[in-house]
Amino acid sequence: MDPKHTLENHPIDFDRFGNQGAAQAQNLRDSGIPNDNILIANREDSYAVDAKSRGFKVEHDFGKAGAVADVLFLLIPDQVQPRVFNEQVAPSLKETATIVIASGYNVFYKLLNFQLKQDVVMVAPRMIGSSVRSLYEKGKGFPCFVSVEQDGSGNGLHTALALARAIGATRAGAISSSAREETAMDLFAEQALWPNIIMLFREAFSVLKEAGCSDEALCYEMWMSKEPAEIFERAAEDGFIQQLKHHSSVSQFGQLSGALALDGVATRQHFKDILYNQVLNGKFCEEFSKIEADLEKDGSDNPLNELYRKSEERNRTAQPRETENAETG
Ligand code: NDP
Repeated sequence: MDPKHTLENHPIDFDRFGNQGAAQAQNLRDSGIPNDNILIANREDSYAVDAKSRGFKVEHDFGKAGAVADVLFLLIPDQVQPRVFNEQVAPSLKETATIVIASGYNVFYKLLNFQLKQDVVMVAPRMIGSSVRSLYEKGKGFPCFVSVEQDGSGNGLHTALALARAIGATRAGAISSSAREETAMDLFAEQALWPNIIMLFREAFSVLKEAGCSDEALCYEMWMSKEPAEIFERAAEDGFIQQLKHHSSVSQFGQLSGALALDGVATRQHFKDILYNQVLNGKFCEEFSKIEADLEKDGSDNPLNELYRKSEERNRTAQPRETENAETG
């Protein structure tokens, strides 16, 4: 049992029994799937209690849940799916069951064992569970990738679209994709794009601090004002370039001429290296599989805790570099 949410640690004061699981189960029910036809498989802990308190039937034995499922939504964290699905669910699963994945990772890397007659479909919302639920409640759709990864029945696309509809994704936003495309884009964003954005903010902070700007002013200017969040909001509506028109002429001139002056060659090479030599060739997956079980450990034995510690340490010890040219640039 995950110690984070034992019954003792967590009174039922949160709206979740799985980020996606809680949202999708409630959306399915509100779309008219009879409650008797929905079974939540969850270990015996506060999440299971939460699901029961919302009127769902709950099964703690994953093998028993698998045995009665015609459609199985595999909504547990990606890193535990191979272990849990292959060992506890797959052996009892009907040979004609449909397996629904919300992420391409384990299918693209071929880590799950399916039978030939089973359908494997991807219905992958592009947002966190609370938004999947709240947008559904507002009668709106949400961006979602849909694909058929294995068409055992020959009817996989109809099933995938029906399930996407039942969780609310086809009201707007569902598009055709694939496990490969979803995994490539997801891991690329996580391992190439966002690390660069974090690095850019860190370096910008450091250079401006060297030039005499205060920590407080920098925090306000760079993110606490939420200006970056607003820029991304507007970019989602208008595109990155067109949203510039909401800014002053000085800002537009600086941003456009600055962006044109950067050739991006080194960045492109770095991005390609990560995409081809880390993501698409399976190297990251292979390395991550070796440490995956350690993510459930406490303290410094957990590699994720260590990465947080090192990042904090780096921020604390980041020394301004040479300052002699700070004024003249
Ligand atoms: P969560 O981290 O919310 O975990 C979901 C459930 O997994 C929990 O209820 C937990 O139950 C159970 N669980 C965790 N570890 C184990 C284990 N070892 N054995 C059995 N059950 C376990 O998952 P998400 O909802 O974030 O992710 C589910 C899927 O959805 C993934 O494929 C993910 O990539 C995808 N997805 C996630 C998004 C997100 O925003 N989070 C967005 C789009 C897709 P308990 O510990 O109580 O047993």
